[in-house]
Amino acid sequence: MTEQRINDVLSNIKEPLLNKDFISLGFLKGVTLKGNKLKIYLGITDTEYKDFPGLKNLIAGKIMEEIPEIEKVEVDFMLGIVNHDNKQKEAVLPGVKNTIAVASGKGGVGKSTVAVNLAAALTLEGAKVGLIDADIYGPSIPLMLGINERPRVLNSNGKNKMLPVEQYGIKLMSIGFLVEEKTAVVWRGPMASSALKQFMTEVVWGDLDFLFFDMPPGTGDIQLTLSQTIPLTGSVVVTTPQEISLADARKGHVMFEKVNVPNLGFIENMSYYLQSDGTREYIFGQGGGKKISDEFGVNLLGEIPIDTEVRISGDTGKPVVISKPDSEVSLKFRQIAKNLILEVNRKNIEPSKSHGLEIII
Ligand code: ADP
Repeated sequence: MTEQRINDVLSNIKEPLLNKDFISLGFLKGVTLKGNKLKIYLGITDTEYKDFPGLKNLIAGKIMEEIPEIEKVEVDFMLGIVNHDNKQKEAVLPGVKNTIAVASGKGGVGKSTVAVNLAAALTLEGAKVGLIDADIYGPSIPLMLGINERPRVLNSNGKNKMLPVEQYGIKLMSIGFLVEEKTAVVWRGPMASSALKQFMTEVVWGDLDFLFFDMPPGTGDIQLTLSQTIPLTGSVVVTTPQEISLADARKGHVMFEKVNVPNLGFIENMSYYLQSDGTREYIFGQGGGKKISDEFGVNLLGEIPIDTEVRISGDTGKPVVISKPDSEVSLKFRQIAKNLILEVNRKNIEPSKSHGLEIII
């Protein structure tokens, strides 16, 4: 009874960043009532929201006004991620709220590095994250996460299912687990596509806020397979500021658009090199990411500098966001994670108004 009344109150209070009530967002995470003391756990888009005391007072005040027998209310906030509401996705990946392809037009722009660090940054925000390494030309993510083991196989109801390997709170499946690194390049068309499908249908992912797909560069079969198997929440496209990289990133954007996968934003990697005297050297040119984002009217989620630590961390199996979470480059990744959360949540409540977020870079 009381729970229903709490629901009623919260269905009239709006989560401030999305301007939609907590109940429709699915952001009531838990309730405990001891005597006349209530504790509620609520989701929120920004775990560093500027006015938690004000919001807590507002919620506590309304509850005590509507349900007088409650005399004390404690409100606890945690990250809230809105589910991408889609029947086809629920059928293939129940428990996974959002699926996002990390793409690039060409190789070597740092797509896998960005995928891994973005996944890590999201776990620091409190999100549950999975990653599918579908880069058939170079499945490098097990190395970047320092993973030596292979997924375990479970037999449930006569069917074999794989358990993803978990590292730093990220669940991973990789084409690299299935083949020796040297032979990965022979994985083409149908074989790669069927491996990708297997990763969706024959893996026990459990509950995830985000499942990322690190795609091979370019615009080939595997991108099509993915977009045809599940309706993705969206893509993020990684580029460097260099013109030749932008040209390919444009193709990536257009390809996803054609198969109705919205681009959640571009990420510019290798934006500049921070010199020891603090000045920035724009090795690959300046402003390319901004230019391409403006051109298509989508977000620039962030700009990441070239930093030796990024490369070293990748090579030693501990992403920089984990090894040095407060370094300049890690803070950039963490801001991108926040921008992505906001964009995904907004898109999931208003599919037609996915753009126009206030970005901090
Ligand atoms: P892709 O997936 O696009 O082929 P990778 O993520 O494998 O690219 O990155 C290519 C190389 O560039 C790797 O050696 C990686 O460590 C390095 N790298 C990527 N981004 C950065 C960065 N911001 N600073 C320094 N090195 C980087």
